Amino acid sequence: MKFQIECNSFKNNQMCLICNQLFQMSEARLIVCSDEGDGFGDICPECIGMGPYWIKSQLQHFSSSLST
Ligand SMILES: [Zn+2]
Repeated sequence: MKFQIECNSFKNNQMCLICNQLFQMSEARLIVCSDEGDGFGDICPECIGMGPYWIKSQLQHFSSSLST
């Protein structure tokens, strides 16, 4: 599980992987990927603002359900 920051040129709505709220993507998007590079989804600015440790702890939950 890793994070990837990408530049984004569209302004469409995305669902946040952590809080499941729709948000409008900004110019920089934070994408959660597996170690193999598969993208799981985007994280909203609000969740990004909670900090990397918080995000990781939320995602541990998520990745344990994926790896089973
Ligand atoms: Zn969120």
